[in-house]
Amino acid sequence: MGVVKEAMLQAEDNRRWALEVLAEAEVLGVCEAHGEYYQGTEEVEEAYKLANRKITAGEGPFAPNERREATDAIKAAYEEHNFIADCPSCVRMMEKD
Ligand SMILES: [Zn+2]
Repeated sequence: MGVVKEAMLQAEDNRRWALEVLAEAEVLGVCEAHGEYYQGTEEVEEAYKLANRKITAGEGPFAPNERREATDAIKAAYEEHNFIADCPSCVRMMEKD
């Protein structure tokens, strides 16, 4: 596998993990029907704390010396979804009626 492709897959893994952490910390909500992420109820700091606990426990793609990268991945995923008030697919379905 090429280095660029590998880096892209790694970034996708990191993003997915960041989203899972954000959802588990309830910083983001996740739609059960569509799997789409939207605004949750907790502050993003809760996700950082949860990520740190996971890294300490050896869970996820980040090593203990990569906490900075983990925080960056969570911040990016958070900023990508936090302005979304509700699942976009549900909103679209409701608008159709
Ligand atoms: Zn939905």
